[in-house]
Amino acid sequence: MTARRIEGKPIAARMKERLRGEVAELSPRIGPIRLVSIEVGDNPAAALYIRNQQRAAGEIGMLFEHLHLPASIAEDELIAFVRGKSEDPSVTGIILQRPLPAHFHARRVQNKIHPDKDVEGLNPANMGFIVINEPKLVPCTALAAVKVLLSTGLSPRGRETVVIGHSDIVGKPIAFLMLNLQATVTICHVDTQDLAAHTRKAEIVFVAVGIPGLVRGEMLREGAHVIDIGINQVPLLDATGAPLLDEHGRSRTKVTGDVDYASAERIAGAITPVPGGVGPVTVMTLLSNAVTAARLQHRAELGAFEPDPLALD
Ligand code: NAD
Repeated sequence: MTARRIEGKPIAARMKERLRGEVAELSPRIGPIRLVSIEVGDNPAAALYIRNQQRAAGEIGMLFEHLHLPASIAEDELIAFVRGKSEDPSVTGIILQRPLPAHFHARRVQNKIHPDKDVEGLNPANMGFIVINEPKLVPCTALAAVKVLLSTGLSPRGRETVVIGHSDIVGKPIAFLMLNLQATVTICHVDTQDLAAHTRKAEIVFVAVGIPGLVRGEMLREGAHVIDIGINQVPLLDATGAPLLDEHGRSRTKVTGDVDYASAERIAGAITPVPGGVGPVTVMTLLSNAVTAARLQHRAELGAFEPDPLALD
């Protein structure tokens, strides 16, 4: 049996249509939905993400302003800048592009974003709302990964679920979202003794580690749903195993996930590709969070609102 391939693009396209409609309905009532993206220092790895965010925001009718600050800015100045944007009523949401240069205390800066403007879902208050099963703004990648799973129609209730990776931004929120959906959740991480013993029992596996090919087919249970969140740049090799070089003599690379797709697709029931699985949905979850943020900030005009971030489009 070959696993069903779970493509992210059609899921993202449906979300985009829904968001375009919501933005068109909301903007005349509350003013434009405006995202502010803050990049500190030069971060070439973030450039592609920022371009994707900017383009997608424009396509659904949101304003997206990218601000670039020098790495030499003092932490107090950066904090005052972020706080100023957070207190500006014309700003709907703030994205603090990562990684910040190493000398900044990223959490201290991030926490200056008001929870209702925290479109990346990283404020401890928003984490807490997930834990008590009242999610509002949820970390984008975690939300995307669970939405991709739910798009298959599989009910998580009672299912053995393994989350590999326990970062605050991906693994932990996935684990709590799945627990809220009544899955039986095991969290594995770098110190887990026998990873395969856990994954072989799992009907659902999320992998967010950053090690290409960490999960291979023989580690999976027959028919498992596998959601690969890893994004790894690996060298392209020729038939002899030597690295392929570009015209400047630099190693050519490709993007792969944390799952060895070729072996996994022979055992799994459904599996996301990398690229093309969770990634395209992640940028849409950021914009979906921006619409949620706007509704949270304009309850007075729009009326009471209970966010439902996992609702399918
Ligand atoms: P992280 O470095 O913060 O966390 C890595 C996690 O993997 C940790 O919990 C660690 O304990 C665990 N781990 C490390 N080695 C392990 C091993 N041998 N076995 C089991 N667990 C192990 O990373 P992160 O920010 O959570 O990102 C994880 C991956 O997801 C990366 O590849 C990253 O590029 C990717 N990512 C993807 C998106 C997206 O939009 N798809 C967004 C963010 C991150």
